[in-house]
Amino acid sequence: MKWKTAICAGAGFVRKGAFNMANAADCLLHVEDMKIYYPVAGKRLGTTDYVKAVDGVSFEVRRGEVFGIVGESGCGKSTLGRGICKLEKPTGGKVVLDGEDISGYNDNQMRPVRKKVQMVFQDPYASLNPRMSIFDIIAEPLIIHKLAKDKKEMEEKVLDLLRKVGLDDYHANRYPHEFSGGQRQRIGIARALAVQPSLIIADEPVSALDVSIQAQVLNLMNQLKKDFNLTYIFVAHDLSVVEHISDRVGVMYLGNFVEVGNKESLYRKPLHPYTQALLSAVPVPDPTAKKERMILEGNIPSPLNPPKGCKFHTRCPKAMGCCKAEAPKRYQVSDDHYVYCHLYDDVNNQ
Ligand code: SF4
Repeated sequence: MKWKTAICAGAGFVRKGAFNMANAADCLLHVEDMKIYYPVAGKRLGTTDYVKAVDGVSFEVRRGEVFGIVGESGCGKSTLGRGICKLEKPTGGKVVLDGEDISGYNDNQMRPVRKKVQMVFQDPYASLNPRMSIFDIIAEPLIIHKLAKDKKEMEEKVLDLLRKVGLDDYHANRYPHEFSGGQRQRIGIARALAVQPSLIIADEPVSALDVSIQAQVLNLMNQLKKDFNLTYIFVAHDLSVVEHISDRVGVMYLGNFVEVGNKESLYRKPLHPYTQALLSAVPVPDPTAKKERMILEGNIPSPLNPPKGCKFHTRCPKAMGCCKAEAPKRYQVSDDHYVYCHLYDDVNNQ
């Protein structure tokens, strides 16, 4: 398919901004126009400005898939993950989990929902209570959600979870400081698995680990996905890690997705200039391979005062006049690949 690159007509599009819920039974998570803004004191006395960490994001996650979210630090990917399970309160938007609209839920209403969605956090050193034994850490969600009828069943479940993540029974009586980073992340995964969730949101789960340990944890996550029929949202800044584990990938920039597609299509033929720049920076394990790097000039603009039009226009080597004036719409370029960029304004005319 040949794209024209100079037309800035801003023409309509088949599914602009909307969601394709063609097969609702397959859809585990539906997020629509999610916004997470943080108020800060304005420049003038008495006014309020907003840091727009997540600024109108829409996407869906299918049952049994790994949806990777990738982008530079500060793009809002972790905030988006935390917003889905209400660890951050969304300013607006809709979240439907397993057919249940949880958008307006308060903490009490969220409690049973947390059985369906669990998080694995980035820092395995900070995410485990140092005063609790590993047994107590893993048993805590079982107690909260009343998932064991007596002490014996509780013990069986905790030990079973430890074995599932590659640890031994004797580890149950130890404390977090006695473990390595990789082992602590395994404990974090066991704690998330305790309530048998449908969806696990893993926020940079391997970025604090050594490379060799990263591979072990990723393989473990892959195995557990098959064993427990899990669905993951996998948030990371490392494109190689995301490629390894994901089925579909969303690329975020300044609080919005700029491109979403299945892994093969997005990595083989990235469409958005930002995705192209990110992928051009990924090292190739072949010293003879020649790769043309696309260097982005300048810094990411502040989410307090993002640029008008396309938020990427201040750094985009392909920016055109219309990019400063008008935010690009969503353009579906194939069944499972869409992009937000004026370069594809005429895609619906193909
Ligand atoms: Fe596309 Fe934005 Fe670059 Fe314009 S500035 S070409 S819309 S990425």
